[in-house]
Order: sequence, then structure tokens, then C-alpha cells
Amino acid sequence: MTVAPAQGDGSALLCVKGLRMGYGPVEVLKGMDIEMKPGERVVLIGPSGSGKSTLLRVMMGLEQIQHGQITFGGDPYITADKGKTKIDIGVRKKIGMVFQHYTLFPHLSVLGNLILAPCKVAGESRSSASERARALLERLGLSHRVDAYPAQLSGGQKQRVAIARALMLDPKLMLFDEVTSALDPELVAEVEQVILQLAAQNMPMMIVTHDMWFAKNIASRVIFAAEGRIIEDGPPEQVLGNPREERTREFLERVF
Ligand code: ADP
Ligand code: MG
Repeated sequence: MTVAPAQGDGSALLCVKGLRMGYGPVEVLKGMDIEMKPGERVVLIGPSGSGKSTLLRVMMGLEQIQHGQITFGGDPYITADKGKTKIDIGVRKKIGMVFQHYTLFPHLSVLGNLILAPCKVAGESRSSASERARALLERLGLSHRVDAYPAQLSGGQKQRVAIARALMLDPKLMLFDEVTSALDPELVAEVEQVILQLAAQNMPMMIVTHDMWFAKNIASRVIFAAEGRIIEDGPPEQVLGNPREERTREFLERVF
């Protein structure tokens, strides 16, 4: 029998503590604390400019922070230390992210996009990575697009390929930043379905979305942020259905 090792943060999967981050003198994240448990699906909502994308980018090690620490599975991996940001890449690699705008490599086929990082970075053999990629594409209903190039795909297909590419690296947490916001309305559902499918397999995730139907359906927890601070954090029934804070209420009246 295997027993999960004890973790410094109790049962937390991800723990953000005292996070402050700014671009130059302008502070964007003004002290954020989040504790996420394994299997949780956190939907992050809030007005444009509140710092949602910045928070996700920080978690991916893409930004310098001024204060605080982030641990994953009990291991600190992003730490502000005397004005420098220390990143433990080994831990960071356990997190995958998909962005609003398709970030596929245009000169590579769908298969090429999926196997690039596993082969080049993780040193996996081409045949093994290709086999995994084909199986994954089949699961996502994209088998017929294996040899297509990004320019030949619909927006919904591009985002599904972007999700598949992230999954190739076997992430233990997925971050989705408004992945359907740039899509034509009729293409939104196919992408949301793929994310719901991942949720059904208990993939922990943090999702930024303005689609409140999707938020309600996928969230095990909702965080409302505004101007770099967390205003409200709780179960979807509470935060979306009966918010405690006036600012959450005002925001929801505008988006619903
Ligand atoms: P959200 O995703 O919630 O809309 P962002 O995280 O994108 O918010 O942005 C938060 C704030 O940080 C905004 O005021 C934005 O203008 C600012 N910001 C974002 N990226 C940069 C950057 N690269 N340089 C300077 N300011 C930025
Ligand atoms: Mg954003």
C-alpha cells in the first residue's frame, strides 16, 4: 500500500501565499492567497484588468514577482527572494497552460506540434511520442486532423490541439485563460466539452472564463478577483448564486 507523503501545506495541491507582482511601479497583484486542494476546479472571474491572466502567467513562471511564494504539492517552486524570482523548473513543468490566442507553431503539423516538446525537451523517442499523440487526438475527436497545419484548422480545432499539446507533457494541474473568448460562438461548445471531459477525469484545473454557463458547470469553487485582490472565494452556489460581496454582485449583474 502506498501512502501519500506528508505535505507542508496539509492537503494543498497549490498554495499561493502573499503574492505581490507589478510591472514597474504599477502593482497588479496586491497580495493574493489561494489554497487549492487536489481535484479542485477553480474558476477565476473578475473584471478585465483585475490581474487574472497575470496570476496564471506567474504560476507558469512567466513573470517576475516582488513578494510571496507558490508551492505545488508542498514544494515551493516560485519564490521572491531579494528582488529576484526563483523558479524550480522541475516543479513548474507539472503545470500546463492554454492561452486565449492559439499559440500553435504554424510551420508544424498537428502531430509535429504535439510531439515537439516531448521529443526535444523531455527526450522521448519520436515513435513513442507519436503513438501517445495519436491516442490523445483520437480521444479529442481530432484523428482526422493529425497531418493538418494550424492554418487549415477551425478556431475550435486549434484550441483543442493546444489542449492536447499541453496534455502531452502529463500535467498535474491545467490552467486555462479565456480559451474560448476568441472563438465564434458555434465553436465554443466543442472546446468546453474537452475541458469538461478532463474534469470528469479529475484533472485539477484553474479556469479564467467569462462564460457563466461554463463556470457553473465546471467549477467546484469560484474566486472573484478585482483590482489585484481576491474579493470572494467559495463554492459556485455561493459566489455565483448568492454572493456576499457587493462588488461580486455588481459584476455578475453585468455578465449574466
Ligand atoms: P485580466 O486578465 O484580469 O484582464 P491582466 O492580468 O491581463 O488582467 O492585467 C492586469 C493589469 O496589468 C492591467 O492593468 C494590465 O494593463 C496590466 N498589464 C498586463 N500585462 C502588462 C505588461 N506586460 N506590462 C504592463 N502592464 C501590464
Ligand atoms: Mg486576461
